[in-house]
Amino acid sequence: MSEKKETKAPKKAKKEKKVEATQAELNIGMIGHVDHGKTSLTQTLTGKWTDTHSEELKRGISIRLGYADITFYKCAKCNEGTFYINKEICPICGKKAKKLRTVSFVDAPGHETLMATMLSGAALMHGAVLVIAANEKCPQPQTEEHLTALKIAGVKNLVVAQNKIDLVDKEEALKSMKAINDFLEKNRYKDVPIIPVAAHFGTNIDLLIETIEKSIPTPKFDLKKPLLMHCARSFDINKPGEKLEKLKGGVLGGSILQGKVKEGDNILISPGPNGKPIETTVVSVSCASGPIKEAHAGGLIAIGTLLDPVITQNDKMRGQVIGLPGKVSKPVTRLDLKVEQVERAVGTKSANIKTNETIVLTVGTMPAVGTVTKYANNSMTVALNNSVVVEKGQKIALSKREATRWRLVAFGIVQ
Ligand code: ZN
Repeated sequence: MSEKKETKAPKKAKKEKKVEATQAELNIGMIGHVDHGKTSLTQTLTGKWTDTHSEELKRGISIRLGYADITFYKCAKCNEGTFYINKEICPICGKKAKKLRTVSFVDAPGHETLMATMLSGAALMHGAVLVIAANEKCPQPQTEEHLTALKIAGVKNLVVAQNKIDLVDKEEALKSMKAINDFLEKNRYKDVPIIPVAAHFGTNIDLLIETIEKSIPTPKFDLKKPLLMHCARSFDINKPGEKLEKLKGGVLGGSILQGKVKEGDNILISPGPNGKPIETTVVSVSCASGPIKEAHAGGLIAIGTLLDPVITQNDKMRGQVIGLPGKVSKPVTRLDLKVEQVERAVGTKSANIKTNETIVLTVGTMPAVGTVTKYANNSMTVALNNSVVVEKGQKIALSKREATRWRLVAFGIVQ
């Protein structure tokens, strides 16, 4: 009896080895007001619950950015060949469906106090699903703030998931859809598809996947340019008390904007700990489904390095720019910006930024606190408390304290 098993087992192992991990092609943001159902929609779409932090579970909101990869398929047999699903085997006819592409979902927190995290996440997004609850007035404050953040980040491709459709009648649903449409047009987002869904029940998820596939194409990335990556998370993956010889180096997670990276590459991390760029060697590259030989611009990836894991633990390297030594701009602590105010439909009208005021800047995935040292004719100079890496022409989200919290009030273009 064991003979049969033995001959079968190695065959299976060989087969499993062949299935290589696939890096997601792009990042799609899951954005919207707190409690409108971003995390449950991410779960319905990907089968993964992105709120893993215990505090997040307790409070029922996302504090950190949540990530999940999913591959979309299309069944050629069902629904006249247009049945879009998130599994390889079609749940209706049981046949193997055609693989379309793998995408990374970035689930941004909708709570107003966590806007800085959302703004960092916007730098990684290539498209977005804006979740709007059908049973509430549109827009809610973070619905508007998230859409503004998208606009600043230059994200053009958007799909609206009109969620909680199970909680309203037809008349209310149509009224909500009209309000969503008006809101989108006011924000110069035209012809955005609005898909009514009930995330908890999986209603219309096939239609939502189809719309994402058609309305959020994979951007054309420049793989020939030198590596440039935004770090969104960093970890120490060692168990507490791990033996020294078994210790693994620090891990950097994020998204590549341009170029590629592979094992053995030397990389530079800037501004680096205490504002001093550091170099290290890549020892592994992986994506959500496992190790890969090479990572390229597109969906979320992680890089294993030779760095002391103390440097990368607890997201300490969040916001860093990763590139090739000699190819990354020098970190700066002073910025000259051309400022444009943000238009707002709901809430209090935002006051202008003034000289000597403290503001929060989101530079790529890096939050920074600065003092306005000069402000005239929509041009300003900011002295930063920590150093940042910028490119000329880069857009930076500017937030200001209003009453008890930080609000996105303007954006600056690096001069
Ligand atoms: Zn089918």
